[in-house]
Amino acid sequence: MMKIRNFFIFIILFIITSLSILSISTISGDLSDLRANIKEQNKIKYLQLLLIAGERIYDEHQISKMASYYQIAGPINYHPVDTAINNLLEFTEHEPKKDEFPHDKYAALEVNRLSEEIRKDKRFASSYSFNRLESIIEYQIIQIQNHSAEFMIAIEGVRLTTQLYSFFTELIDQLIDIEVSHSMDESSAIKAIKLLGAIDETENRLVSIQKNYLKHSNKSEEIDALVSEVFSHDTIKINHLIYNNFDHTVANNVGLQRVNHSYFQAKNHLSSLNRILLNEAIDISANQIYLSRIKIYSMVCFLAIFFLFAILPISVMIFKLSGAFTLVQKAITQLSNNDLNINFNENQSRFSFELESIMQALAKLKKIQIEKYRLENRNKELIRKLQLSATTDYLTGISNRRAFLDAIRYLPAEQQYKASLALIDIDNFKRINDRFGHSCGDEVLMKFSRLLKTFFRKEDLFCRYGGEEFAILLYDCDNQQVQKTLDWLCKKTRYLSVMVPESEKEKVYFTISIGTTELADRSSINHAINRADKALYHAKTTGKDRVITYTQQIEAPTV
Ligand code: GH3
Ligand code: MG
Ligand code: MG
Repeated sequence: MMKIRNFFIFIILFIITSLSILSISTISGDLSDLRANIKEQNKIKYLQLLLIAGERIYDEHQISKMASYYQIAGPINYHPVDTAINNLLEFTEHEPKKDEFPHDKYAALEVNRLSEEIRKDKRFASSYSFNRLESIIEYQIIQIQNHSAEFMIAIEGVRLTTQLYSFFTELIDQLIDIEVSHSMDESSAIKAIKLLGAIDETENRLVSIQKNYLKHSNKSEEIDALVSEVFSHDTIKINHLIYNNFDHTVANNVGLQRVNHSYFQAKNHLSSLNRILLNEAIDISANQIYLSRIKIYSMVCFLAIFFLFAILPISVMIFKLSGAFTLVQKAITQLSNNDLNINFNENQSRFSFELESIMQALAKLKKIQIEKYRLENRNKELIRKLQLSATTDYLTGISNRRAFLDAIRYLPAEQQYKASLALIDIDNFKRINDRFGHSCGDEVLMKFSRLLKTFFRKEDLFCRYGGEEFAILLYDCDNQQVQKTLDWLCKKTRYLSVMVPESEKEKVYFTISIGTTELADRSSINHAINRADKALYHAKTTGKDRVITYTQQIEAPTV
């Protein structure tokens, strides 16, 4: 059987365990969400750094190219590219759990290498290097798992701006080809026209993104302005210039300059657009990180509050209740074992009405039990007294006839033999009563009874048989010993005396007559009594103050 305390402990442990499992799984889920969001945010930050580096590489390439062919741009400052690449490398160093993203480090090194290559070769190798750069950015975009609509728009914007960089670079390259060759290179012109078409297409997509998706963004107006500025360059005019070049074999760098100007104008706005879009994506993931953190904190707070306000008070109450139950159980066990030494305070469990009632009921039960024992003891005493009065003679205090006969009836088997029965009668007792009063007779009876008590052994049975008659059973004696003992009793009785009432000196002496017979078998007690009575009668009739043993002659006296 389970103890109530153990049962409660089991229940509490069960609740705590299930709650812990539930909350651990929830918290670990939230934690992994948090980790994923942080990871995601880092990827976006990395992408941003990658884009800045890429953009600066394009810028540097463009400026240096224009400078080397036409001296139309200022001196080259390598500093912005190096700083951007350093930021990229630094980020991979400080990135948390950088082992998880080994490609980031390689990508940064690769970007560094590509920038070196583009610096060295301003025309032919650069196109391949730019493709590599684009694929590195694309790879980083694929790495990002966030598929929210806002992020997809941001990514689409990034892709389009990267494409625009590349198209512009390519367009400028083609225009340079046309210019450098000083002849109408048909394939370069066609390529340039195609690129212009592609730029127009890309522009349209950017406008559609801006129109369809970004109208609800809080940066909507800013983006709106940027997009319109980006596309303020006039591709139709450039187209026209290229067509003109078909007709004039003379070099004309107006188109090129216009494109170059357009490129830088557009580029600045595009990079601002990129920044806004990616910052929005970072904000979204920051918000997700914040939400994950809030979820974790609220779960922890909920657990703490639950423990403080539910588990703790319940545990305290259960322990108090089970303590009270143990007390009640002990008290009931003690009561059922008749142990009334119960120590409990009936007001001990004040917090529970039911337990208080049980305690009070127990206190009542204890009182009832005490009263019951008192009555039982009184009854036992009464029964004992009743038994005593039923078996004891009220005057002399020795056994009465019933107790005597019962004792003989229930004698042990080995004591059945060699026993003698004697009936004793005080001589002329009526005369004592008559002469000295009934109380004097009573005195005589008591005096003689005291003699019997001192005269016989413990194991001998004797009683007041009725009136002034007494009966004695002597064990283990032969006839001679019986005769001798009873003679001796007669002699002793002769010396007994009682004071005559209201006289200071006068004493009353008395004698006894005894009739005795053997008791061979305890079942024949009635016959033995008859025989002893006959012997007693014989003693009376032959002069009293003597012992007569029953014989056949007594039974059939010869007259
Ligand atoms: P005997 O020698 O033949 O035995 O004569 P007795 O006078 O002793 O015998 P009897 O049978 O004539 O008288 C017995 C008397 O004992 C009668 C009765 O009043 C008296 N007696 C019986 N019981 C008591 C008692 O308890 N107290 C007193 N004082 N007398 C009693
Ligand atoms: Mg008598
Ligand atoms: Mg008598």
